[in-house]
Amino acid sequence: MVLLGDAAHTAHFSVGSGTKLAMEDAIALSRALERHREIPAALAAYEAERRPEVESLQRAAQVSLEWFETTERYHRLEPVQFAMSLLTRSLRVTHENLKVRDPRFVATVDRWFAEKAVQQSGAALLASAAGGLLFGVIADRYGRRERNEYSVGWRDAMLIGCAQALALMPGTSRSGVTMTMARTLGLTREAAARFSFLLAVPGIAMAGAYEFLKLATGDGPPADWGSIALGMAVAALTGYACIAWLLRVINRIGLAPFAIYRFVVAGLLFWLFA
Ligand SMILES: Cc1cc2nc3c(=O)[nH]c(=O)nc-3n(C[C@H](O)[C@H](O)[C@H](O)COP(=O)(O)OP(=O)(O)OC[C@H]3O[C@@H](n4cnc5c(N)ncnc54)[C@H](O)[C@@H]3O)c2cc1C
Repeated sequence: MVLLGDAAHTAHFSVGSGTKLAMEDAIALSRALERHREIPAALAAYEAERRPEVESLQRAAQVSLEWFETTERYHRLEPVQFAMSLLTRSLRVTHENLKVRDPRFVATVDRWFAEKAVQQSGAALLASAAGGLLFGVIADRYGRRERNEYSVGWRDAMLIGCAQALALMPGTSRSGVTMTMARTLGLTREAAARFSFLLAVPGIAMAGAYEFLKLATGDGPPADWGSIALGMAVAALTGYACIAWLLRVINRIGLAPFAIYRFVVAGLLFWLFA
């Protein structure tokens, strides 16, 4: 007995390819039987040809299923962005091949994204960079400077956490805004930088644990744990060295040069795109 179609495999119906898979199974089986005299050899060839195809579609179907299960993430998108997200949800239809199927739609999407990028890299960037300049320079220059990171209480942590939320605004630097707030609250430059980096640890650790779990329990191809461990070790060492170096630099030159740099880049982008 040979199984084909839904009897052998299923994929979530939102990718709409079950019938195609079933028909391709039948074609592949008939060709394999024509090519091989021995039944076991024909069946092995059929399995070898169809399994990768089916597994690839099942992975796409899983991504598509997850898109539909989390529609609350997308329902506030503007119609053009929503349509693009829906069409490319399984990652089998990409921007490039959609351009071949419907060039007018892709041109509309490209125009929409370009306009958004101009808005975001223009006014919002300039505003946040100007804010960064003001607060970065003023807080860094005139803030009290005697507190270390161990003196941070729940009120300070809340205020620094609220400042971090400003990083949701395009053009705002997460570490810049948290260090600025920490300086305003009287932390030394080094303590402000240290606290800002430590603040990123829970989020990064949780995102890492989530990806780790997905790799360990997912249905995808087996993870290359050796390469992952090597990548993590190299990232940890270089990250540690960079942060140690940056802390020394900030201690010496303060935050003002970073704020001025951001202001200049924002002005340049505004001039180029707005
Ligand atoms: C809601 C939904 C939407 C879908 N949308 C799409 C789409 O847009 N595009 C697409 O390509 N695919 C879609 N699919 C998937 C597609 O319908 C199936 O993958 C496809 O029909 C599988 O074909 P099949 O011949 O393997 O199985 P089936 O079509 O299920 O055929 C099996 C047949 O065997 C019969 N049967 C079962 N048991 C016995 C028995 N004991 N004796 C005799 N007969 C029996 C059944 O009655 C049935 O007629 C969708 C599926 C669903 C559920």
